[in-house]
Amino acid sequence: MDSLILPRSLCDELLEQARRALPVECCGLLGGEKNEISRIFPATNELASPTAFEIPPPELFGIFRQLRAEKLDLIGLYHSHPTGENTPSARDLERAYYPDAAYVILSPHQDASQPVRAFLLARGDVQEISVEIVD
Ligand SMILES: [Zn+2]
Repeated sequence: MDSLILPRSLCDELLEQARRALPVECCGLLGGEKNEISRIFPATNELASPTAFEIPPPELFGIFRQLRAEKLDLIGLYHSHPTGENTPSARDLERAYYPDAAYVILSPHQDASQPVRAFLLARGDVQEISVEIVD
């Protein structure tokens, strides 16, 4: 995976979630086919923290079941960074449990130059991939 395709309507929805969740991080999963996102699965941030997120395991399993039922791939996970840059934190790297998934990090701030960024975090490496917003 070297890029993500994100429909504008879903992009707007993600940023809306990130803003609504302030001052804490929002989080969720992204489903679709190959690198094309077609579905957003918002989740609860049980830490309700401005610098960390954790999806309650039963909720996570429920989303995985839904992905399977809808025959969608897990393309990635998303969360927001209410404070600081929307680039992976040390904690994000430490907890990157899905080496094949893209980690989308959102900025809820109106003046962010790139409010939606995506990274591959396999084996402690950080590789940014491009996000193509399509109409
Ligand atoms: Zn983070």
